[in-house]
Amino acid sequence: MIGVLSLYIKYNVLSRASPFSLLHVQKRYKKKKTPKVTNTMRALDYFDIAYPPVYGMRWPSIRLALLSKPKYISVVNNFANHEEVVKAWLDLGALDLGPRIASSVEKISNSIMRRLDDTPDVQNEDSAAIGLPGTIRPSFRELTDDEIVARITEEDIRRYPEEYKKRALAKMEYIGEADVDLTNRVLLPSQIGPDGSLMMDHVPSDKLKGLENWIEETDAFLDINQGDEDMGLKIERQEQLLQLPPNLKVFSFLKGDISDFPHPKADRTLSSYDHYPLDGGSLLPVLALDIKPGDHMLDLCAAPGGKSLIALQTLMLGRLVCNDVSVNRQKRLINILNQYIPECFASVNNTVEVRVDDGCELQEEEMYDKVLVDVPCLTDRHSLKEDDNNIFAVKRVKERLRLPEVQAQLLLSAIKAVRPGGTVVYSTCTLSPLQNDGVVRLAFNRIWQETKIDCVVIDLSDAVQPLSFLYRFGSKLGLRYGQIVLPSLLNNFGPMYIAKIKRLR
Ligand code: SAM
Repeated sequence: MIGVLSLYIKYNVLSRASPFSLLHVQKRYKKKKTPKVTNTMRALDYFDIAYPPVYGMRWPSIRLALLSKPKYISVVNNFANHEEVVKAWLDLGALDLGPRIASSVEKISNSIMRRLDDTPDVQNEDSAAIGLPGTIRPSFRELTDDEIVARITEEDIRRYPEEYKKRALAKMEYIGEADVDLTNRVLLPSQIGPDGSLMMDHVPSDKLKGLENWIEETDAFLDINQGDEDMGLKIERQEQLLQLPPNLKVFSFLKGDISDFPHPKADRTLSSYDHYPLDGGSLLPVLALDIKPGDHMLDLCAAPGGKSLIALQTLMLGRLVCNDVSVNRQKRLINILNQYIPECFASVNNTVEVRVDDGCELQEEEMYDKVLVDVPCLTDRHSLKEDDNNIFAVKRVKERLRLPEVQAQLLLSAIKAVRPGGTVVYSTCTLSPLQNDGVVRLAFNRIWQETKIDCVVIDLSDAVQPLSFLYRFGSKLGLRYGQIVLPSLLNNFGPMYIAKIKRLR
């Protein structure tokens, strides 16, 4: 009976000429446009093809993390009432990274000492991370994400992404005028000449028409074993482990804890903001710079200023030049500096110079002890989240294709600007192998061809180990020059790639 009644009501409601009539619903439905392809969809489509061959079994978890809420760390402002903030963060249960990193450094150093003494060792989490011998197999709880994945399955042999070639060839059918074999931008390791001339094969972006979305950048830089020495590219291992500088106060919630820090608020007396929340990955490039008292530093692509602010919080810089090509973004940087460093700290303010210049055209040579070059890139996380100002927008195709060339030019400017003995850190927030190791190689190739500069890549694979409790470092990915922080749901930082270069001459 109830069934019949409800049928009767439904029929009556739908047959009446009310705004809810079936006819009306159908009309309204018909008017709806088919969903358009958004920039974020374009980005995801691209990453889904470009990254699985590189990140293999790790891609699904990285993808999920990239599409999830990022995790922020908090940099306490030394130019505000910092003691109050430190106490508040400890009360919230946040981890003070300084002492935690120091304890990792101590444990690892002790393990190394014991290993050198050749005494039997009980393996701990940190020594396991740098491959020291041990007797006890760690439980899965003690393993990092990377180690768990490595244990569950043998890493896939990297595959040439057939999908790329298929789509590239399909496009070529109607790009009659292409004057290069566009699919050659897609290189198999077996196609790399004995002279290691891979980077010379990088097809300039102005020659690519119509293939924009299918430019291969995954296998192009893999398994290349020749060429470094021909290019004068030497790699030196850094033994000194990364540490937090003594005055830098940084907090993070524990692994798996997705709590947020409260919004920054103005200090009652100094009216500066109490802390600066930012993606946890942003700390790494500044730590890799190894800032020393009195250092003169150039931040070549500084805006909106997160990393410059962290560098200033070390209270060690003798001079900081914050450069960026964008006037609008530099306005944001100036705002941040004003909000975090009150006027009364004249001695600090006087060390900072803000400039708006194209870093590719930089004319300074041998001027700085440290140069950070945090380049524009695919900004993977932003590209998946925001349709506005998205590098995958159709109108920005040329800009996107030119990124590797621009990045290499910026890195070249940075290497010219650092003095012999000084350090350059190149960083990106993309997983793209071309924009990471690929650009380092591109820049070295140009140094070798165009200058008399002598420099080495500093291998940080041991040096970053004290931070492995915080970051999911990408291991066994075929990276040759840099380190990469992979997004992980446990600590959803990054991606953040860094390569450290020391200038010798
Ligand atoms: N380091 C910044 C931070 O931590 O807040 C983020 C830098 S963002 C990844 C890249 C920056 O590079 C952008 O602000 C962009 O305006 C700048 N940029 C792009 N091309 C540039 C160029 N040719 N010279 C200098 N800066 C450039």
